[in-house]
Amino acid sequence: MYAERMGQLPPYLFARIDEMKAAKIRSGVDVIDLGVGDPDLPTPGHIVEALCEAAHDPRNHHYPSYAGMETFRTAVAGWYRSRFSVSLDPGKEVLALMGSKDGIAHIPEAFVNPGDYVLAPSPGYPVYRTSTLFAEGNVYEMPLLAKNQFLPDLSAIPEKVAKAARLMFLNYPNNPTSAVTLPGFFEEAVDFALDHEILIVHDNAYSEIAFDGYQAPSFLSTEGAMETAIEMHSLSKTYNMTGWRIGMACGNPDIIAGLARVKTNVDSGVFDAVQKAAIAALTGPQDCIRDACRTYQERRDVLIKGLGALGFEVQAPKATFYVWMEVDDCMQFATRLLDEAGIVVTPGVGFGSGGDGYIRFALTRSTGRIQEAVDRMGDLVS
Ligand SMILES: *Cc1c(COP(=O)(O)O)cnc(C)c1O
Repeated sequence: MYAERMGQLPPYLFARIDEMKAAKIRSGVDVIDLGVGDPDLPTPGHIVEALCEAAHDPRNHHYPSYAGMETFRTAVAGWYRSRFSVSLDPGKEVLALMGSKDGIAHIPEAFVNPGDYVLAPSPGYPVYRTSTLFAEGNVYEMPLLAKNQFLPDLSAIPEKVAKAARLMFLNYPNNPTSAVTLPGFFEEAVDFALDHEILIVHDNAYSEIAFDGYQAPSFLSTEGAMETAIEMHSLSKTYNMTGWRIGMACGNPDIIAGLARVKTNVDSGVFDAVQKAAIAALTGPQDCIRDACRTYQERRDVLIKGLGALGFEVQAPKATFYVWMEVDDCMQFATRLLDEAGIVVTPGVGFGSGGDGYIRFALTRSTGRIQEAVDRMGDLVS
């Protein structure tokens, strides 16, 4: 019944975890879910207010423009200027997205011919791989190894693959490893891309979720990046707006135009009222971000300290709301945590073979629940 490409989709591990979790809850277990990459914190009130006001105005009830409202694109450009010192032309270098997943899912259709290679990190956000498969491209997995600080080793990519590659996905701060980029790496990536005529798609969904004074850069501030790269960004993680579906693609105008052309054929843009709320988010007070980061940092510290006391050596991440921990067998470890302690974590292999041997904790539950999870793990190992 289904098309052949459906057979290439990986078994959706996350759906299976959801089933196992639901079964536990039905049997009366108080499950602590540290699996979901979705903030538990609410969207800040001033953003919700902006949506309500805009939703009441019938002028916002029509089909939106494809590229996004000019006022939204201008707000994005203003935010990029003040946050990253990157200057963007809102007319040609900014495109509204229904979340960054929308951009990631459609970009290969505009640039990848059947058989072309797409370079994607492993472990990595699963959509890099599936969007490539839908465009009938070949995925070349760039392993993210602890010994390389979870940055891909570009010199290890075979010349034949590099020559046949059209796109490279990168993502720092990184999901799931929580790694950040290091000085010189983005420059190296731009050189590699220009040498091999590869387009870079940098996924910057976590740029604002950072700790201990760390400030994540935009890929677009790298010299030469505007010639060959775009950045996918999103309000989802920054302002706790995952359900609202709004993000933006920014960068090279020809790449933006290609993505925009695909999108005009598959969707009809983001609800104007949501765009107005997003303008309120990007141009309004930013202390909500600082408060959220303080909350995640407290949770991170409770988890890292607790895991350390149990004998697990884990580095405290500088960014993202994830903790990436090495274990012997990730499926077995995750299954045992759920079965015997009622804790949901994500086995690393769900993010590609490069994630095997790790589990991911999401800091999207309260400090108290995280402490409770640590206590239950203590009962398990003792
Ligand atoms: C959450 C996430 C996204 C998608 O976010 P949207 O809600 O679609 O903006 C993209 N990339 C990574 C790495 C993520 O973790």
